[in-house]
Amino acid sequence: MNFSDLELDDVLLEAIEQQGYKKPTVIQQLAIPPALEGKDVLASAATGTGKTAGFVLPALQHLLDYPRGRSNGVRILILSPTRELAEQTYKVAKQLSQFSEAKCAIITGGINYGKHKDISTGCVDILVATPGRLLEYIEEESFDCRDIEWLVLDEADRMLDMGFAKTIEKIGDEARWRKQTLLFSATLEGRGVDAFAAKFLTDPVLVEAESPRREKAKINQWVHLSDDRNHKLAQLVYCLKQDSVNKAIIFVKTRERVAELCGQLNSADIPCAWLQGEMAQDKRQKAIKSFVTGHRNVLVATDVAARGIDIDDVTHVFNYDMPRTADVYLHRIGRTGRAGKKGTAISFIEAHDVLVLGKVERYIKEKLVRRVIEGLEPKYKEARIPSKKAKPKTRKLIQKKQAAAKAKKRAKKAKKH
Ligand code: AMP
Repeated sequence: MNFSDLELDDVLLEAIEQQGYKKPTVIQQLAIPPALEGKDVLASAATGTGKTAGFVLPALQHLLDYPRGRSNGVRILILSPTRELAEQTYKVAKQLSQFSEAKCAIITGGINYGKHKDISTGCVDILVATPGRLLEYIEEESFDCRDIEWLVLDEADRMLDMGFAKTIEKIGDEARWRKQTLLFSATLEGRGVDAFAAKFLTDPVLVEAESPRREKAKINQWVHLSDDRNHKLAQLVYCLKQDSVNKAIIFVKTRERVAELCGQLNSADIPCAWLQGEMAQDKRQKAIKSFVTGHRNVLVATDVAARGIDIDDVTHVFNYDMPRTADVYLHRIGRTGRAGKKGTAISFIEAHDVLVLGKVERYIKEKLVRRVIEGLEPKYKEARIPSKKAKPKTRKLIQKKQAAAKAKKRAKKAKKH
């Protein structure tokens, strides 16, 4: 399928060409047609699948198909979980609308109020906003939702995780005259996304671009067994010194661990950028910039701190500390292997991580390859680690076998008599 098969206007096709997109990605092929037919869309698409253009393009086409009447309010509202993601989406909207008349704007925290003042009445067509700041404006009556025709919820799972459910419900209620709602989420399983979708969408078309389970096709994943923290550090340093590592994100579980690991990597001659949840915005931007531009090619972060950052060309993701759930694992490794490029995800498994590794393997339906680094072989053998779940089962099996043996003995005795 080509973009021209999607019945998009020439001004959009021109912008697409300028972006260098040759063919629509799977999510674009699946989501654009029903959105243009006026249907609600429930899309499962992780970052990296081209999802942003998947909702921005039909939104722009909608604006071209139905020119603005007498109203002067915002017509398309896109909600993003974080300021960074909102900024990226805004950028995509600007790029793809450059040859059309559509006017785009952005409202996020951290930008002073004056800049936002005219959005409500300034004939803005597409507004990208973070929920918290937008609701503030709605509540102080400096923003009006009456003209909103499309509501797009991007990364709905993240927004729910971040505690925005009530805020979004309020905004959805304010925008109740809308005609269509599109909900995009990396995963549709659990975390309340299904209930949320049921509340917001009417008879939606379900589209699944790249199910998280299929991510593994382009992301090469393996694990190293680690005896303890020192062993794990030595393994990580070895991996980071490989030529293939051009841009790596290392995930750790707490911000204390961010600081600790950065210090250790610096001592090993591996300078790194770092992100932690509570960080001044300018410092955060500086750290991201140094990683994006390649000034630093290693970024250490927690899950919370890495939310919303969208960086192309990440070659490696390291789970220095394993996450607690398979879901987070998939979200982490989705930072690499973007837009068809190859990626590698390496996890370090200490004895206490074996259970979560099992969860991940069951979820992706694949046993991850165990690799060993020469000279850094682990001392512990994974097979000896008792699984909590296996114990009662084994016990039951033994009891069953013993009972059967006893019964056999009794039967033999009875025969003799
Ligand atoms: P997203 O999933 O929206 O964050 O997009 C991930 C990356 O894919 C971005 O760098 C986009 O510029 C790029 N992209 C989006 N659509 C296409 C396409 N049809 N062909 C190639 N790259 C694309």
